[in-house]
Amino acid sequence: MSEISGKTVVVDLGDRSYPIMISHNTYSDIGQWFTKYCGPKKAIIITDDNVNPLYSRNVVEGLQATGITTHIISVAPGENAKSLSILSTIYDALFDCKAERSDAVVALGGGVIGDLAGYAAASFKRGLKYVQVPTTLLAMVDSAVGGKTGINHSRGKNMIGAFHQPDLVYSDIHSLNTLPKRERSCGMAETIKHAVIQDSKFFTHLENNIDAINHLEQQLMINLVEHNCQIKANVVAQNEKEHGVRGYLNIGHTIGHTFETVMKANGFHHGEAIALGMVAELRMAVKRNMFTQGDLEKVVAMFVAYGLPVSLDEIFPTDALYEAMKQDKKVSGGKIKFAIPTLIGQCTFVNDFTESEIKWAINTLAK
Ligand code: ADP
Ligand code: ZN
Repeated sequence: MSEISGKTVVVDLGDRSYPIMISHNTYSDIGQWFTKYCGPKKAIIITDDNVNPLYSRNVVEGLQATGITTHIISVAPGENAKSLSILSTIYDALFDCKAERSDAVVALGGGVIGDLAGYAAASFKRGLKYVQVPTTLLAMVDSAVGGKTGINHSRGKNMIGAFHQPDLVYSDIHSLNTLPKRERSCGMAETIKHAVIQDSKFFTHLENNIDAINHLEQQLMINLVEHNCQIKANVVAQNEKEHGVRGYLNIGHTIGHTFETVMKANGFHHGEAIALGMVAELRMAVKRNMFTQGDLEKVVAMFVAYGLPVSLDEIFPTDALYEAMKQDKKVSGGKIKFAIPTLIGQCTFVNDFTESEIKWAINTLAK
């Protein structure tokens, strides 16, 4: 058996703790990790039609090398896969291949596949084993850590779901080489978010290594994914569900999510909406003298350097956006709670921003 290489981060959740492996060897040792942390006889790989031809074969070979039987279910790429009808076809396929509770659902793909496959794993027979094999930077640094799974409903994004922690997360940064640049930038939006809420040194590191990170320099990317996972794992270990410091991760999302739901026609990708949402929310903080203009400018410059939008040639439908914000599942008692940085690396909650402050901030994004 060849030696297992790469870096690991442990998400500490007591008896549901699990490791995140960050590798770079095209899945050749993935079977050993499955055997050690999950031990399924069968792995049902759920992937999409873009990722399937690129990486399924390597994953299958890696798993079969340790005697695991494999099945592949591939769905059309994109957010529309997170639907009740696609979920139903996945249940059919799980019945067809006689999936049992000791078998593993493997999410091979980006955040969409992670959410969909994770929810199938959480709900089929009240829970199968679950392994995340994220292939986008966004999923590696964010959505694959934390156990959130779910699908969309016509009334809202991620409205049907469950917390279901994986048994293992296995990221191979090699897969980033085929990822469209726009998707990579989206992963950087969540990376910058993590630095802003938790880690000023990491923020400086991201400022000093823009070219190398944009060129996917291997060691830097392994370290970057590891560091993000450590930050997120820490937060998740403290607050597994949505409370307390886990809510800091929502920075940029309170406003950003509404861009995704209300301004659907703009075709925002998640990270782009979050970058814009963060710029607006940070401006609200600056206006209240909670955050400095200088730090805001640093964050804006970093979004630009990593290919993210900070303004739009648009008129924003602020009334509709504000209404959507009030419908969010994280709103309680009618108050919209914002995670707001007080410094780069430090955060707090504010729940008394007025309607006019919020709408003003959104309008500042118009070019
Ligand atoms: P996320 O929510 O993580 O951004 P998605 O699941 O929406 O991810 O994936 C974004 C797009 O990138 C999808 O079209 C998906 O098929 C594609 N994709 C995912 N991983 C890769 C990869 N490693 N190489 C090329 N395309 C990929
Ligand atoms: Zn996000």
